Amino acid sequence: MPLQTTEAIVIGGHNLGEADRIIPFLTRRLGKIRAVAKGARRVRSRYGGTLELFTLGQLVFFESPNRTLHKINEFSVVEPFAGLKADLGRLSHGAYLVELAGASIEEGESNEEIFLLLRDALTLLVAHDEPRLLRSFEIRLLRIVGYLLELYRCLVCRSVPGPGTQPAISPTRGGLVCSHCLSRAPDGLPVTVESLGFLRSALHGGLDQTLVAPLAHPHTDNLQEVLRVCVTHFFGKRLRSVAFLSLVE
Ligand SMILES: [Zn+2]
Repeated sequence: MPLQTTEAIVIGGHNLGEADRIIPFLTRRLGKIRAVAKGARRVRSRYGGTLELFTLGQLVFFESPNRTLHKINEFSVVEPFAGLKADLGRLSHGAYLVELAGASIEEGESNEEIFLLLRDALTLLVAHDEPRLLRSFEIRLLRIVGYLLELYRCLVCRSVPGPGTQPAISPTRGGLVCSHCLSRAPDGLPVTVESLGFLRSALHGGLDQTLVAPLAHPHTDNLQEVLRVCVTHFFGKRLRSVAFLSLVE
């Protein structure tokens, strides 16, 4: 069995047999993988609580020939993101980010951009438990997986919605629809000018930049609704924590 080394984030985990754990990781070099931590539930386990949700570390594992379930050789913690477990808000938002990142990639498929986006978002979430961070993460992740929302021109008539008009975002069309063309996009959700401005800057700026500009409550609610339908449209049944998140927010 060849030995592999890569940076990795723990994105879940469940028990196997009497003493083992199966840990899914999002890795920097090798995408999403699952690996067995032998004896992880024994009192004197050498993993000693390191394989907790969100933990970023250096993973060394034996690659199995069939590539479905590998075996952990060593996991050394780089950043435990302990702050994310300090309150229910951060915990559920962190769980949502992890789940969304995990759903965006098939097992064995590699995508360094998704790993880096998740790592940066978890880092920011420790200090800024803000809806804007989640929204920024969502639209950037959608872009990485190939669902780039059109935010400038109407996807039906190609016009640029002017000031004072009420455009919408249509998940099935993949972005903006002007008020005149709404009848041709029945799933269109009204989007405010402020939300649209946020989406544009979130798509093109850094994750942390979107935390600088304040955004009033009605717009954060509007953004959440718009992106939730886009995320659900794209990832569909692969997500579980969307429902959980709505209980907390
Ligand atoms: Zn139009």
